[in-house]
Amino acid sequence: MKTINETNSQKEENEKIDWSIKNFEIGKPLGKGKFGRVYVAREIKSKYVVALKVIFKEQIEKYKIHHQLRREMEIQSSLKHPNILRLYGWFHDNERIFLILEYAHGGELYTLLRQNGFLSETQAATYIASLTQALTYCHEKNVIHRDIKPENLLLDHEGRLKIADFGWSVQSRSKRHTMCGTLDYLAPEMVENKAHDYAVDNWTLGILCYEFLYGAPPFEAESQADTFRRIMKVELSFPSTPSVSAEAKNLISRLLVKDSSKRLSLQKIMEHPWIIKNANPTGTCN
Ligand code: AMP
Repeated sequence: MKTINETNSQKEENEKIDWSIKNFEIGKPLGKGKFGRVYVAREIKSKYVVALKVIFKEQIEKYKIHHQLRREMEIQSSLKHPNILRLYGWFHDNERIFLILEYAHGGELYTLLRQNGFLSETQAATYIASLTQALTYCHEKNVIHRDIKPENLLLDHEGRLKIADFGWSVQSRSKRHTMCGTLDYLAPEMVENKAHDYAVDNWTLGILCYEFLYGAPPFEAESQADTFRRIMKVELSFPSTPSVSAEAKNLISRLLVKDSSKRLSLQKIMEHPWIIKNANPTGTCN
């Protein structure tokens, strides 16, 4: 398949192109998000297949997400990593904004998880290693994602994980104070609305690792108040089924640590015996 960013000179050319809807053949809808729809599309000249996200300007005004969207677009288009969904460019007409995104043929990781109930240790370790590498890259660029959850994780045609949706991410050198994210994945310092830093993403890796292996996040509860309480107490328990290795439990326990400075670092995750033993180095899971 031809790529829209095959060479450096082509990339520069792509960045200069004034894209419009006329450059694309629109295919089937891929999904519907809060602010618009996503379609598979083909760039006519290169035949390159992409995902086009269509957002109505009316919605942007209604929800006042102007700044959030701009930030999301700027951050995502600056990130170039095999495990981060590429944003190739954008254009607009009178009513709509179009984001030209990398096409993730495998859809949402969430769907896979719900279909299978839980993932194998090989799959879980491969996804955690891919996420760790993508986050290492983000952190080096001073980007904290803060909203990593299965719905924001897509898979390409080879089953490679792609982080999508940078709506809540921030580019920052200092500790942040804003409250955001989905409750089940929130680190204690975020639940308490305290200053937080990169270590919030490390906590989320622990939550996801647990959810991949057991099928549900560890602090899930009937009410939000109960989830809050369970996160604050780090009320972590490992059910007897499905059967999960002691090494996986060890990694989870070393990430779900209340004191953010004591959480396993991204580098140490990559060196952890469970990752070394189980993760597929190619990052593919098909
Ligand atoms: P969103 O508006 O980003 O929440 O997207 C809505 C849905 O469209 C998602 O839940 C995905 O199932 C699908 N989708 C979004 N972006 C892509 C993409 N780049 N490739 C494939 N499917 C996508």
